[in-house]
Amino acid sequence: MIPTVDFEADGKQIGWLRLPHSVTRSAYGVIQIPIAVIQNGPGPQFLFTGGNHGDEYEGQVALTRLIQSLEPDRIRGRVIILPALNLPAAVAGTRVSPLDGGNLNRVFPGDPNGTPTWQIAHYVEEHLLPMVEVVGDFHAGGASLEYRPHMSTHFATDASPEHKALSLEIVKKLGVPHVMVFEREPKPGVLPDAAMRKGVFSFGGEFGGTAGVSTCGVAYVEEVIRRLLTIFGATDDSASDPAEPEPDLLHIFGPKAYVYAPEAGVFVPATELSQQVELGDLCGEVLFPDNPARPPVPVLFEGAGVVVCRRHPGRVERGDCVAHLAANR
Ligand SMILES: [Zn+2]
Repeated sequence: MIPTVDFEADGKQIGWLRLPHSVTRSAYGVIQIPIAVIQNGPGPQFLFTGGNHGDEYEGQVALTRLIQSLEPDRIRGRVIILPALNLPAAVAGTRVSPLDGGNLNRVFPGDPNGTPTWQIAHYVEEHLLPMVEVVGDFHAGGASLEYRPHMSTHFATDASPEHKALSLEIVKKLGVPHVMVFEREPKPGVLPDAAMRKGVFSFGGEFGGTAGVSTCGVAYVEEVIRRLLTIFGATDDSASDPAEPEPDLLHIFGPKAYVYAPEAGVFVPATELSQQVELGDLCGEVLFPDNPARPPVPVLFEGAGVVVCRRHPGRVERGDCVAHLAANR
């Protein structure tokens, strides 16, 4: 990976990470991943990423706007912004990369000698995360899912008590009314696992879905970034935030939080986002318009909680996730 930006320079630079990608059409070609570095002397160090999954747009939109609006004289420290982290997926509007089928948010810590998606993960984990104290990685449900917007934080089971307490304290102050907390052993997988390995404060969340752009979700991401910059001391934002109710703290209580289609057909949901359900409640049913004499197959929840995510397209294959729950922490 060859950056065209100087990570140590003050000012505002908008450039590229050049990832060599030699193919028949372009023997010496590079994939140009957009990156901005906005810096003003010493101070807190941030990494903000969108487009980790290419069909999730709220982060891509909010971070593109941030690159255009944030000026170095408004901050202390350094803000590194990648609005289209898995660029091939982002320009294709797909979850995974069309170049190598890679799902960037499943391949951390990546591989410097792997195909493009694995190289991007490696660069984030070994070059970008060690430069920062705080990462914000903004997701949504993509083409197949719709999320009720929520903020999230991840920390490792063996993180210091101070790191855990601060993660929890800060994630509650970011202006998003629902907060998902993940505490676990880091493992190969998602970007927050990489952040745990590097001891970086990890924030993120799901801000919409259906491969659309949620204006409410974009507004949340913009507000989260504004508050993170203030809380960590990069800006003196004098506008005091109005008193807000404490967000509800949620967690995913295990595999039974997820509901899967038992058959191929058309899934008809029986619940709405935000609905509280109990074990055994009806999640929906699979209908068979191709065989209308066949009775529908009911699909039941296997746990109790709040519906935070639903499948978007009607057509399902056996094993498609049709909903998932979260429970109070
Ligand atoms: Zn995602």
